[in-house]
Amino acid sequence: MNTVRKIWEKCNIMEKYPHIASFLRFDEPLSLHTTFRTGGPADLFFSPSSREDLFLCLDVCLEHDIPLYLLGGGSNLLVSDAGVRGAVISTTGLSGISPVAVYDGDQNSAGVSVVSGTPMEDLVEWCVDHAVGGMERFAGLPGSVGGAVFMNARCYDKQISDVFYRAECLSFDGKGYTLVHTAFSADQWAYKVSPFQVRPQTDPLSLGAGSAIILSVEFSLSVADPVFLRQECDRYVEDRRNKGHFRFPSAGSMFKNNRDFGKPSGMIIDEAGLRGFRIGDAQVAPWHGNIVINTGSARSGDIRRLVDEVQRIVREKTGFTLEPEVIMAGEWSLS
Ligand SMILES: Cc1cc2nc3c(=O)[nH]c(=O)nc-3n(C[C@H](O)[C@H](O)[C@H](O)COP(=O)(O)OP(=O)(O)OC[C@H]3O[C@@H](n4cnc5c(N)ncnc54)[C@H](O)[C@@H]3O)c2cc1C
Repeated sequence: MNTVRKIWEKCNIMEKYPHIASFLRFDEPLSLHTTFRTGGPADLFFSPSSREDLFLCLDVCLEHDIPLYLLGGGSNLLVSDAGVRGAVISTTGLSGISPVAVYDGDQNSAGVSVVSGTPMEDLVEWCVDHAVGGMERFAGLPGSVGGAVFMNARCYDKQISDVFYRAECLSFDGKGYTLVHTAFSADQWAYKVSPFQVRPQTDPLSLGAGSAIILSVEFSLSVADPVFLRQECDRYVEDRRNKGHFRFPSAGSMFKNNRDFGKPSGMIIDEAGLRGFRIGDAQVAPWHGNIVINTGSARSGDIRRLVDEVQRIVREKTGFTLEPEVIMAGEWSLS
């Protein structure tokens, strides 16, 4: 039995809080919660569907020193085959969308408040249905609203920071957490960088001192024609389909683009002759150099080895070091 499970049972937590059993699973395979369809087990896996339940799992884990990790839609993650030691909290049960007033004097302004576990897809649909414009370019983006904000997701030259107004968060100080409302200045965001990315790279899902759980987000949008919005969304989803985004399990772009390299990472990988390059069932997509796919039963270790190899070969041929956009999470040393 693993250490976390022992602590859990020794402290009789189920007896003290029987309600927790309704949203807790032990040794949950994270392959069920990532778009790569890979990843080992989480010792504890919570999927709360209310704030009260979320607070309960946070309080119990903090009281018993159980490490905490946060998971959104799992669409930008490569979780190790050894999995995660501690408690993973999934936000996918925490969803909801409502209009909010915008006080900037502009008749065309429209605001929306979204609970962080809401799928981006649902937010985009809601906006079309309610004649609210500004989110169309995110049509077809997998994952949750919280994950998109954390990553400062960028689609067709529009990034989340362009529409972000403020967020309601739980801010962690290492011992506990406080509820805060946060807005940010433009210089706190950058390409694929948000002000929330303060977690150490070695522990990219962990909720340690300085990190935050985004609970809900307000976006600053505008009134628009729903027929036009529908056409735009369809156009972007169609483009993604044509680019093969949904053909195989993946996490979208594997590497960030870097202006200093003078061309997109996908083109650099293509020119290095690596399209279609594979290790086991992990493969550089035969149609796009910057998408790594799971063609069947790849394990995270195969994908990681492929990524390392692509980086090595590109470095050797061009001198450029490609930086992964996909977050490597979990216990890699044991994989
Ligand atoms: C087919 C495909 C296409 C894609 N296309 C694009 C694209 O065009 N542009 C783009 O930018 N990305 C793209 N991605 C990557 C991915 O979809 C985005 O990065 C997405 O925004 C991640 O959201 P998520 O909920 O899945 O986050 P996850 O992968 O679950 O988590 C990512 C990080 O966010 C943190 N996090 C999640 N929720 C919260 C929260 N509530 N509070 C605090 N931290 C949180 C996690 O701890 C983790 O560190 C694509 C992926 C796929 C599979």
